[in-house]
Amino acid sequence: MTLTAVSKTQPPGAIDAALAAGQRVFGENRVQEAQGRWDGRRNSVPGLELRLIGPLQSNKAAEAVALFDVIETLDRPKLADALAAAGARAGKPVHVLIQVNTGAEPQKAGVLPAGVSELLDHARAAGLIVEGLMCIPPADEAPGPHFALLRKLAHRHGLEALSMGMSGDYETAIRFGATHVRVGSSLFGERKPPESP
Ligand SMILES: *Cc1c(COP(=O)(O)O)cnc(C)c1O
Repeated sequence: MTLTAVSKTQPPGAIDAALAAGQRVFGENRVQEAQGRWDGRRNSVPGLELRLIGPLQSNKAAEAVALFDVIETLDRPKLADALAAAGARAGKPVHVLIQVNTGAEPQKAGVLPAGVSELLDHARAAGLIVEGLMCIPPADEAPGPHFALLRKLAHRHGLEALSMGMSGDYETAIRFGATHVRVGSSLFGERKPPESP
């Protein structure tokens, strides 16, 4: 089980403290903000792993491929194509998770559970390395059934990685087989309000 420390909006001192404590896996939800935080540290921290956990626009695919080791938020064929093209240009294998909208919430990113199979086939045909699935359960529901559904979908497709669980529900997620939990505020304290773009 891997702890992904969600470092979005954290000040440099908090990142340095986590690195000094030995933390090496970090999650960020915006490409540009992550570049500012990690470009300078990228090469000086051996073993660093950066994971994109926020929505990605196709026109940022090249920047995302350059910075991140794993992109957890693949949710549509067009983005798969853009990531594959960016990986080919950079000569870099692209590792992804498919984000699943387990609650079928209209405003939320992620492919519907019924669409996982088709997107998986598309991503693999494009040349992406699909490691597993990721979800963010609806805020107003018990998360357990959503984690169970994600695990079921992963098993059905022979996928290993399950990125699920945040500060409020990571213990539940671990019981349901999470391989990666994404924890921000429980680790770093409350976030500052996001910087304006
Ligand atoms: C911010 C964020 C997290 C971490 O949330 P906390 O509640 O602070 O632990 C996890 N996953 C995603 C996708 C996020 O955007």
